[in-house]
Amino acid sequence: MGEVIFETRNAVYRYPGGPEIPAVAAVTLSIDAGELVAIVGPNGSGKTTLLRLLLGTLQPSDGEVLAFGRRATEWKRRDLAQRIGVVSQREEAAFPLRVKQAVMFGRYPHLGPLGAPSAGDIAAVDRALERCDVAHLGDRWIATLSGGEWQRVRVARALAQEPRALALDEATASLDIRHEMEVFELTAQLVRENRLAGVLVTHHVNLAARFADRLIVMHRGSARATGSPSEVLTRDVLEEVFQWPVAMTEWEGVPQYVALRRRSGGEGGEGGEGD
Ligand code: ADP
Ligand code: MG
Repeated sequence: MGEVIFETRNAVYRYPGGPEIPAVAAVTLSIDAGELVAIVGPNGSGKTTLLRLLLGTLQPSDGEVLAFGRRATEWKRRDLAQRIGVVSQREEAAFPLRVKQAVMFGRYPHLGPLGAPSAGDIAAVDRALERCDVAHLGDRWIATLSGGEWQRVRVARALAQEPRALALDEATASLDIRHEMEVFELTAQLVRENRLAGVLVTHHVNLAARFADRLIVMHRGSARATGSPSEVLTRDVLEEVFQWPVAMTEWEGVPQYVALRRRSGGEGGEGGEGD
């Protein structure tokens, strides 16, 4: 058994003025150091809200959320920011910053009272740039980066924090195959090398199944299934949650789905009934 980093017990969250049905409804989970857990599910199923509860940026309406053994909302933001690196869904490279400066922002929670980076801070930035394969971009303006480069820089910034947990929310949503794979591979390696608690929020179920140790399949705010990819990725669960017919296959011993064409007539025939 590893050290428990995140834990929720019947966590509920209702957005004020939001719909009757809570965005997160009675979710119980735990995530250990050294473990990569993917939170998967369709749009609107509560993935981001669940992550915000783990990060302490939302106060649960009911139930409990612990980060590092303490209520997530009780942490001082700066103290929690030293421990959790976050790569959120969207962030424009809008500020006029060089890549190195942008990654130095990851050191903010660690800087002393004068706010000047120490040799240790600079070394942490250099290590993170190197590790995320963006050291050669150090002097580039962030606004000039490609989507894939910018995402890797954002992971580097989270890594420069030297966190004990790493959370990515749909961080590969707009990337092509190579850049998406690079971010998944990098995340999985970082979790293992540094024994981080890894939380990967994604609707890419097939990739999640290949990289994560465990999956939490969200459905209308509830954890519909939790466990290893082989345990949770069944046709029944996927069809219920995504509301679409699928066929199941396997790659390297891990279940993978293929989304069916609704009118293809079942056994692979093209066209079927047509529209
Ligand atoms: P996901 O990340 O899985 O797409 P979210 O956690 O963003 O889902 O959203 C879960 C549900 O909560 C959705 O029904 C969404 O419309 C609702 N929701 C999200 N953010 C807000 C908000 N700020 N105010 C009201 N409702 C929200
Ligand atoms: Mg989301």
